[in-house]
Amino acid sequence: MAAVSPFRQRAAAALADPTLQAALSRAQDGFVAKRARALGALPELERMREEACTLKDHVLANLDRYLESYEAQVMRRGGQVHWAPTREDACRIVIEICQRAGARLIAKGKSMVSEEIGLNAALEGAGLEVIETDLGEYIVQLAKERPSHIIAPAVHKTREQIAELFQRHHGYRERLTGVAELVADARMVLREHFLSADVGITGANFLIAETGSNVIVTNEGNGDLTCTLPRVHIVTAGIEKVVPTLEDATALIRLLGRSATGQEMTSYTTFSSGPRRVDDRDGPQEYHVVLVDNGRSEMLGNRFRPMLRCIRCGACLNHCPIYAAVGGHAYGAIYPGPMGSVLTPILFPGGTDADLPNVCTLNGRCQQVCPVKIPLPDLLREHREIQYQRGITPPRQRWALALWGALVRHPRLYQILTRWVVGALGLAGHRQGSFRHLPFLGNWTAGRDFPAPQGPTFQAIWREQERMRRTG
Ligand code: SF4
Repeated sequence: MAAVSPFRQRAAAALADPTLQAALSRAQDGFVAKRARALGALPELERMREEACTLKDHVLANLDRYLESYEAQVMRRGGQVHWAPTREDACRIVIEICQRAGARLIAKGKSMVSEEIGLNAALEGAGLEVIETDLGEYIVQLAKERPSHIIAPAVHKTREQIAELFQRHHGYRERLTGVAELVADARMVLREHFLSADVGITGANFLIAETGSNVIVTNEGNGDLTCTLPRVHIVTAGIEKVVPTLEDATALIRLLGRSATGQEMTSYTTFSSGPRRVDDRDGPQEYHVVLVDNGRSEMLGNRFRPMLRCIRCGACLNHCPIYAAVGGHAYGAIYPGPMGSVLTPILFPGGTDADLPNVCTLNGRCQQVCPVKIPLPDLLREHREIQYQRGITPPRQRWALALWGALVRHPRLYQILTRWVVGALGLAGHRQGSFRHLPFLGNWTAGRDFPAPQGPTFQAIWREQERMRRTG
């Protein structure tokens, strides 16, 4: 018997976890409804998506040029740009900056690229203390977990679980119960860290080539405090985050907020452009940007280039039936959901679950909601094709695909066989209307009944309709 893949094991555990299921369904419904409301009020949505897609493709075709002008602008404003070809390089660069600054405590804003490079573990390994300041990230840090969603890291947690975590870590005798109380509690604890941190590390939603600015959008304002209060500010960002102008960033921000949380704008949109100037009242003394490649240059030159358009809005996760059923941790990867199933095998080659590109049903909802029109189902199919060519696809699936391929090359034989199978199944199942068990379909019937076919095959109905149309 074939071994059950890690994804399937984690997915089975997630499906059997009622607390997780309750948290997921609450969050998912909220995200989908809010996005629909926000975008429903935007008649120019399709034009904006088209323009965003064109803009990102233009940037990707001229990435070297825009990155160079971004670097020149950052340096002109007194900042430094560091190029990190790999995850290890990125972590080493950040650690060296922190050590040179004599840092001990680091305040971190939310940054998926820092998760991607494993920055927290690397900093802690170098003897530095790291505090996440985004509320969701703070919660998963206390729980010693990974984010389960790219914009809502603790979406898998219920309020009761968070209250228990805070009580344990903040040392209270009484457990807080209300959302407002919990938020106020986290705010009080995090304020202390902002004030005493030596280095602030943030991510970047966009890097603007014409000004050398870094843009982050948040709903908590923690990004502003992380940028301005510590002595040193380090931005970690993937190289694909650069856009040519302020106007381009604004156009993408309009799509980002609506697609992510259904907001016209997030509560805070922060632009940081270098270290504190002489007449500035606050701001860091040092400003560093670490530009992370980690496989992106390779993507630029292969069939996965469209994935570099991603603005990390999370809409594809929120509309994915697989993600909705099992949550982010089942993917066992930094980036979950459809975008993660495309990205993970590229960013972490060899170290990933081969099942990830195969868990998708290819229903296409992710592509429909993606603000930059990434053809996610096509890219997942590309991964499947690569797996097939490399012999990673399991033998049973290979045989089934080979049989299918042989049959569809002989349409007449295909029609006869499908007519025969559908007829036989229809006859055998006409009493109950469905099957509890069927050979070769154990995975399906383990979770649900298989409906007995009713009437002729699709092809027979199609032929009949064509005949009627022709004869009038
Ligand atoms: S793939 Fe598209 S929908 Fe998914 S996170 Fe990226 S931009 Fe958003």
